[in-house]
Amino acid sequence: MEGPELVALLSGRRVAVLTGAGISTDSGIPDYRGPDSPPANPMTIRQFTSSRAYRQRYWARNHLGWRHMAQTLPNAGHRALAHLERAGVVTGVITQNVDLLHTKAGSRNVINLHGTYAQVVCLGCGHTMSRAALADQLEAANPGFAERAERLGGIAVAPDADAVVAETESFRFLDCPACDGMLKPDIVYFGESVRKEIVAQAYSLVESSDALLVAGSSLTVFSGYRFVRHAAALGIPVAIVNRGATRGDDLATVKVDSGCSPMLALLADELSGLMSA
Ligand SMILES: [Zn+2]
Repeated sequence: MEGPELVALLSGRRVAVLTGAGISTDSGIPDYRGPDSPPANPMTIRQFTSSRAYRQRYWARNHLGWRHMAQTLPNAGHRALAHLERAGVVTGVITQNVDLLHTKAGSRNVINLHGTYAQVVCLGCGHTMSRAALADQLEAANPGFAERAERLGGIAVAPDADAVVAETESFRFLDCPACDGMLKPDIVYFGESVRKEIVAQAYSLVESSDALLVAGSSLTVFSGYRFVRHAAALGIPVAIVNRGATRGDDLATVKVDSGCSPMLALLADELSGLMSA
């Protein structure tokens, strides 16, 4: 454990944080890329848009999975970052997760790089609606579906609110109420890019901070890795807390091979008194 080195690096610095799936595993959301990850084929945007049968299966699973995502609670790692923001240490959190657990834990400045499970967007006209509102409509179009599937059991919750269920062929999904276009969870899938203004916000958070802390990401995806490269190029020190190797290890001043919850709780203990004093 390189806890003392990590504390020494971040002491007296205003810290931007980048989080990935590893911070949410202690909340029961599996990490597709972690060392203990289950086998999975993440959906691509092309699969979604090119097949009606695929969308039907997707929405049937999502109709079940999103409730589990909505009921998930933040853990000690999320709470530690919210505490550090209130103490003036953390400037904001850029997250690759769509689970909203930072917001639920009380973090205020959160940049949801890949969107969230709680909103739905029309690919045709850009109309957005809450996932909860869509849930009511899907429930009305498929009375009893969720209860029957729950009784079958065996539902595994994945990072994109997908869930495993066998019987989906009778499921009725809905198109955009404004233009009849395709509705999609407002989540960035493989093959899609993060919106420019979101990326700009995240760069600006990194630039206005004295350090970048990466927590629970292997930085496999460029959408997160670019902020580590940006910080390193500007001479802003980078600290990484992650179980297993990451793509940013060579750019890190300190790397701690650890789960997020204990290490972030340690940081909250050690750092929160310093800035507010
Ligand atoms: Zn539309």
